[in-house]
Amino acid sequence: MDLFDLSGKVAVVTGGNGGIGLGMARGLARAGAAIAIVGRNLQKTKQAVAEIEALGTQAQAITTDVTDSSAVDAMVAEVVATLGGLHILVNNAGINIRKRPEELSESEWHEVLDTNLTSAFLCSKACYPEMKKAGSGKILNNGSMTSLFASPWTSAYASSKGGMVQFTKGLATAWAPDNIQVNCFLPGWINTDLTIRAREQLPELHQHVLNRTPADRWGEIDDMSGIAVFLASSASDFITGTAIPVDGGFSASI
Ligand code: NDP
Repeated sequence: MDLFDLSGKVAVVTGGNGGIGLGMARGLARAGAAIAIVGRNLQKTKQAVAEIEALGTQAQAITTDVTDSSAVDAMVAEVVATLGGLHILVNNAGINIRKRPEELSESEWHEVLDTNLTSAFLCSKACYPEMKKAGSGKILNNGSMTSLFASPWTSAYASSKGGMVQFTKGLATAWAPDNIQVNCFLPGWINTDLTIRAREQLPELHQHVLNRTPADRWGEIDDMSGIAVFLASSASDFITGTAIPVDGGFSASI
């Protein structure tokens, strides 16, 4: 038995049209899973689908705002109808609004919390009946180094990512009897559109990350493929409720 084989499995990756989500989708596709790529920007999503199909697996583009519960329910129904089931959910979609807390508006606070944390609740709840019916499931939640640390720019973002760790534990304990494993992964600093914007706003960030990361480099999106396959496969069947750094040693370093 290949512990990492995902043939016959269907995975939904929110925010899978670029960045970390695309890196994870590539890993899941190479392990044999069919992939539904969920995003708002249809052009980006179609490009990602073409890339995943070129890896030799089935892929589907779905335009959904993951903060909208009816759209999320419709997305799950569409995946099941088109790809024939739903076994793996990667709650990856996320944003940051980099402002000091005294400058952040109430609506900006809600936008970050809704996109990063409430969306994971909505997507997980919508997927649960399918996973329960299938007799197993895997949910992967995207945390961050700000699940552990924070900065003056991340009060809302760090709240959402700290919440993701506790949300993961809540789901894991609730759904373990259904053979659904729920884990959080905590990326270090990965080179994506999100962090390109962060480096534009905070020019000292690039070198700070290099200084603090024992691996002495920024992560690339393909560094996220392995954790996706591990947490989505039977290799992790007795692992649930954890938060695993994927950070080149950032969180081990002072
Ligand atoms: P990107 O900006 O490249 O990716 C963000 C993704 O989220 C996009 O695919 C975007 O799709 C999607 N998205 C945002 N809002 C919504 C929404 N309302 N509905 C549907 N999709 C949405 O950045 P990253 O790859 O860096 O970020 C991905 C995740 O990784 C985020 O949760 C982020 O917090 C987390 N993360 C990133 C780190 C890093 O160093 N890069 C470190 C730790 C965590 P679209 O463009 O179509 O809207």
